[in-house]
Amino acid sequence: MNASASPAAVLISGGRVLDLDGDVHHPPVRDLLVVGERIAACRPGIAADLAAGRGVPELPPRAALERVSAKDKLVIPGFVNAHYHSHDVLLKGCFETIPLELWVLSALPPAFPKRSSAEIRARTLLGAVECLRSGITTVQDLATVYPYDEAHVDAILQAYEDVGIRCVFALQVADVPGVKSIPFWDEVVPASMQKGLSGAVEPLGRGAEVVELVKGAIARREPVHPRVTWALGPTSPERCSEALLGGFGDLSRGRGLPIYTHIYESKAMTLMARHGHRRDEGSLIRYLERCGILSPKLSLAHSVWMLPEEIRMLADAGANVVLNPVGNLKTKSGVAPIRPYLEAGVPLALGCDNCSCSDAQNMFQSMKLFTALAAVTHPEPGPPTARDALAAATLAGARTAGLESDLGALKPGLKADLAILDLTDPSFVPLNSVARQLVFTEAGRSVEHVMVDGRFVLRDRRITSIDEAALREEVAELMVALRRDLDVVLQRNERMLPYLLEAHRRVWQSDIGLNRYIGAGNG
Ligand SMILES: [Zn+2]
Repeated sequence: MNASASPAAVLISGGRVLDLDGDVHHPPVRDLLVVGERIAACRPGIAADLAAGRGVPELPPRAALERVSAKDKLVIPGFVNAHYHSHDVLLKGCFETIPLELWVLSALPPAFPKRSSAEIRARTLLGAVECLRSGITTVQDLATVYPYDEAHVDAILQAYEDVGIRCVFALQVADVPGVKSIPFWDEVVPASMQKGLSGAVEPLGRGAEVVELVKGAIARREPVHPRVTWALGPTSPERCSEALLGGFGDLSRGRGLPIYTHIYESKAMTLMARHGHRRDEGSLIRYLERCGILSPKLSLAHSVWMLPEEIRMLADAGANVVLNPVGNLKTKSGVAPIRPYLEAGVPLALGCDNCSCSDAQNMFQSMKLFTALAAVTHPEPGPPTARDALAAATLAGARTAGLESDLGALKPGLKADLAILDLTDPSFVPLNSVARQLVFTEAGRSVEHVMVDGRFVLRDRRITSIDEAALREEVAELMVALRRDLDVVLQRNERMLPYLLEAHRRVWQSDIGLNRYIGAGNG
């Protein structure tokens, strides 16, 4: 073996290494050896053995070894942002807290003219950079490419490859028009304005055509970059026909692909199920079961308005729930039944959702709210604990990615996706409990280095993979057109507002058999 063929190796020495199977409050000091893209060893004494000239069996003889001191640092598994959308990265800070349906009309691609490939690349890079800077090493991007353009899919995937984050990529699709997806819209909004009503994506065809489109998009790009894997993204069950969901079920089983969807995010979405799915007793969970996709491969984002019997069905099926507590509050969607999910044994992962409805790609915020929001319905002490939050942000997210044998912990054999945090930051002084201070105190300020696939993509707080300053300049130029288009969208929505609010009021006056707001008996 010549030197150029030797694997790169990194020794991260003398840091506290977080292991959710060990002492999460005072993790022990370990040396962590990375060889190539994987963790080769994690134990005390590797640095001392090397200094004393003793052999380290996990280190190939001619490996180029980079040494990083982690003294006074904490090494954690990289977070898995299990629900994310790259399509509205550039709209962070554009909206106050507004109801979900109004936000969708203001922020999502079908409401806007077609974007340029340059804008799509820039927003994908920027979103990934924000994730990396807060210790996220994997994003699960449920991306709307509408109108559909193969060049735009290429732009997104190339951006992920270039920036160096790990991505599970799903095209967000539906075959029911947006105007049909929200209760009372088609009754209340005047016909002359209804062309302005759209959803998270609009139909790219009918059931089987959409399945073929996605199948073709995947096949044309094989193999994708090793850090990019595919998932399937039916936007929400009430907007997808049996043919579409059943076809995705076949594709998922055939290729082992995860399926991501939104469910019961808002009361309106839940009312739609009650109205439109009488055959399934008004339950989208029964609908998913009938379509053959209620399985451990399925991840249900939000799941705020879930009935107790549906929670039991999810637990029995091993399906995943991905909670997005920040986005749910900002869009006035309510609070998910967090403790009932935990008590039923439903696997819970965490996401940061859209940049314009949560407006931060920050798992520290998600973890803190995840632990805090059980207070809304459960005043007595109990789970989720800080450890539960860390497990949701790492291990459970890896499961939703279909990568649980590779990600989610710092153990030999797993991929080297990690973040190194500064324990001298005031968030960790004094160090009473690493787990609790990660979840309740830290907000992302201490993240110094981030490694994905054995490569530092954030080093000494600098992104190593792309030129961030150039990206900022490019974004500033792109925003001229985007702001102009946003103004047009907002003026149109302003004209529709009285009708949209009337539809919203009618939803709130409807009885759907449960309430996810503060009040007695909410479960
Ligand atoms: Zn979403």
